[in-house]
Amino acid sequence: MTAVKKVPFHLTNTLTRKKEEFVPSDPPHVGLYVCGPTVYSDVHLGNVRTFTSFDVLYRWLTHIGYNVRYVRNITDVGHLLGDAADGEDRISKGARAEQLEPMEVVQKYTNGFHAVMRLFNNLDPSIEPTATGHLLEQVEMVQRILKSGFAYESNGSVYFDVPKYAEKHGYGGLSGRKIDELLANTRGTEGQDEKRSPLDFAIWKNAEPEHLMKWNSPWGVGFPGWHLECSVMSTKYLGSTFDIHGGGMDLKFPHHECEIAQSVAADGQVPVRYWMHTNMLTVNGRKMSKSEGNGFTPEELISGDHKLLDRGYSPMTVRFFMLQCHYASTLDFSNEALQAAEKGLSRLMAATDLLPNLRPAASSEVDVAALEQRCYDAMNDDLNTPVMIAELFEGVRIINSVNDGKLSLDQEGIDQLSRLFEAMVFDVLGLMREGAGAASDRVLDGLVKEFIHMRAEAKASRDFATSDRIRDRLLELGIQLNDTKEGTTWNKV
Ligand code: AMP
Ligand code: ZN
Repeated sequence: MTAVKKVPFHLTNTLTRKKEEFVPSDPPHVGLYVCGPTVYSDVHLGNVRTFTSFDVLYRWLTHIGYNVRYVRNITDVGHLLGDAADGEDRISKGARAEQLEPMEVVQKYTNGFHAVMRLFNNLDPSIEPTATGHLLEQVEMVQRILKSGFAYESNGSVYFDVPKYAEKHGYGGLSGRKIDELLANTRGTEGQDEKRSPLDFAIWKNAEPEHLMKWNSPWGVGFPGWHLECSVMSTKYLGSTFDIHGGGMDLKFPHHECEIAQSVAADGQVPVRYWMHTNMLTVNGRKMSKSEGNGFTPEELISGDHKLLDRGYSPMTVRFFMLQCHYASTLDFSNEALQAAEKGLSRLMAATDLLPNLRPAASSEVDVAALEQRCYDAMNDDLNTPVMIAELFEGVRIINSVNDGKLSLDQEGIDQLSRLFEAMVFDVLGLMREGAGAASDRVLDGLVKEFIHMRAEAKASRDFATSDRIRDRLLELGIQLNDTKEGTTWNKV
């Protein structure tokens, strides 16, 4: 039997725009930082897609033997509306709207975020730091940037001096932006007079008296700029240069570009070796977002209670739908695609359930090792989950043929296939069996309706012994039938 090659892993590094072999700086340790949610409202399904993509990265790196420290932050201050320098803080806006303390808003939506992550079977990160928990470190980083000469104080705020930095170190490499073009595209905005250049961004912002979240600092009362927290928290827990930094594509600019500039300016270190950016979940081609009004929450998705949804779908159906698309491609939401994913997932799970009962043959007609190798190759090729899933369906075809007695597989082959499915379906893709999920509920509903129909037929032919037996047997199984004027309904008891 040929041994399956499980490494090396290749990842598209968005910094170099190339697919590169992933070599950690201190194997077997891997440092992974992912920008977490801004906890001022419910997460929508687009956010879930991004965190699910990184969950699969985390699972895969762990599966191929790395010891991953996964840091995913909670943004609880500093992220302004419209990402502008002069917008209202998102958390403060939420607090005003809901008449809550800002920290109540933070707690409420952090809890909600955790519940959603669990629902979709996304693993907890190793560390989940908050921006407000790292204010001292942020102030210190501002001081280091001031000391290195790449920032200046103005009216109680501190701005990063982009043109000065760009001249020395270059700026825009990650996002492919050019300073001249950026300058040409800037419009006069309020508060800009404090800045030397419209490209400069606040690393510390002076707080107006009505501002809710503010702290004392060497520059007066204020709050940190949004980009600063990620620079501080990633390097605090993963070191001044760490392996992988991720986030949605929309964070490349300005957020991640500014992160690089801050770290280089403060500590003279390029912070990240591999950048990974995931693509967007869209609705009719438009990015799903809160402001577009085309975002729905996971709860709405499960209940089906939203204008975009024909009916409800289970969390694992949605996870499977997402993983059937490569993380770097856009994924357009549609009811048809979800229905297809539901069918595919139930075929996959049904085959997985058959595995323990397959009858071994004396010899094997199947090369399971080759199938296993193709699964590893797909995942090692930039986390190609759609190709890996297609390989698993080749496995499904084999399992069904063996079960039907049309193909022979020996005990060793069955064991190898079982291990492969256990690893890929559950550990790597993170799918779960859904006992009482939407799909199985629909099957149950269909079956009970069939019995109701049989009972009605028995009654019509005055076979009351049969009709009563159907009713009593269903009740023993926890299904109660109710005869009403409109017909017979059922419920679980
Ligand atoms: P936010 O809470 O807005 O900072 O977003 C949290 C994460 O979700 C970020 O990494 C965003 O890039 C990501 N995100 C936002 N909208 C979408 C979308 N429609 N599809 C995929 N990811 C998204
Ligand atoms: Zn971030």
